[in-house]
Amino acid sequence: MSGTCRFCGCSETKPCLCGCAWTDEKQDLCSNCLEMIRMLADWACDCHQPSSVLLAREAKLLYEKARAADRLLVATPEEVRTLAAGGAR
Ligand SMILES: [Zn+2]
Ligand SMILES: [Zn+2]
Repeated sequence: MSGTCRFCGCSETKPCLCGCAWTDEKQDLCSNCLEMIRMLADWACDCHQPSSVLLAREAKLLYEKARAADRLLVATPEEVRTLAAGGAR
């Protein structure tokens, strides 16, 4: 039986891009997400007033930027021009 990570939805057949492994018997938490949770816990402990809502918002922006940059790398010259002109889809 193969599970699905309850945080990122990866599975045996569709692992995270970085490559991940199950961290428990239930197979609902992968090593990639466990690492993130540990980092978040560390972060919260170190903060004066940790706000996971603000953190999530900022992370989403960074994620979208990264995705856009990735898209530019694989885009054809025409697509780059379209993106540069305002990103019409
Ligand atoms: Zn995961
Ligand atoms: Zn994973």
